[in-house]
Amino acid sequence: MGLTGKVALVTGSTSGIGLGIARELARAGADIMLNGFGEADAIETLRAGLAAEFGVRVGFDGADLMQASEIARLVARCEAEFGALDILVNNAGIQHVALVEDFPDAKWDAVIALNLSAVFHGMKATIPGMKRRGWGRIINIASAHGLVASAQKIAYVAAKHGVLGATKVVAIECANAGITVNAICPGWVLTPLVEAQIAARAKANGTSVEAESNALLAEKQPMLTFTTPEKIGAFTVFLCSDAGSTTTGAALSIDGGWVAQ
Ligand code: NAD
Repeated sequence: MGLTGKVALVTGSTSGIGLGIARELARAGADIMLNGFGEADAIETLRAGLAAEFGVRVGFDGADLMQASEIARLVARCEAEFGALDILVNNAGIQHVALVEDFPDAKWDAVIALNLSAVFHGMKATIPGMKRRGWGRIINIASAHGLVASAQKIAYVAAKHGVLGATKVVAIECANAGITVNAICPGWVLTPLVEAQIAARAKANGTSVEAESNALLAEKQPMLTFTTPEKIGAFTVFLCSDAGSTTTGAALSIDGGWVAQ
């Protein structure tokens, strides 16, 4: 239980990758603040289930991370309720797929607000407390799309490239403060975010979900396998461990060979 006594905030943890990360951090002994959208009863079942399964404190806050003021409030609540915020995982993200000339301005603003600006606001609000305590771990969930591009994802690719830049800056600023700052760059992970893209392709091409899942993998990854949220969670736990204490400012791929090509 290497993270017993540590407090972790995982944004966007009611689903997908964030939930996998929250589970693995709880398994390692950390207290967890969940965040994200969803149906209240389902979220409470999730919250109580994690607390019971791993014997850690688990809270939930439905802050909308499009609002900078909500991010500051969420961080302050973690520190007030749990006494600290030691591990920040900036994970919440959205996608929109369209050619640049068709890309709605409002979708650009929303993707940049959540996938990039919320990462800045989260780090800004969290680092003063981490500096006071002399220990912190920040893990920004970027993407293979932080390192390379794909067509029709201009806002997402721009935001994720920006996350890698922001990660490097804050890693340098915090290098001797006991705080590491890293980005994880997943390839394809089968979550609601990707299931929506697969369903849209199957509809557009008149094919099956299975055929489009296979095609999606084959287009980008040498390894024809989805990464699971739990594997990204285990990677996060490593970065929070003592073994990870000199890894900082890194863009760490977990992508089935996507960016090796
Ligand atoms: P998901 O749609 O399953 O989960 C997104 C989470 O963010 C949910 O909990 C949702 O409620 C929350 N959320 C959405 N808008 C929010 C807002 N305004 N405020 C607070 N929370 C909000 O998506 P996912 O696939 O698990 O993606 C998680 C992260 O991983 C994203 O940053 C995504 O870009 C990144 N990523 C995903 C993949 C993949 O293949 N799924 C690959 C690389 C990177």
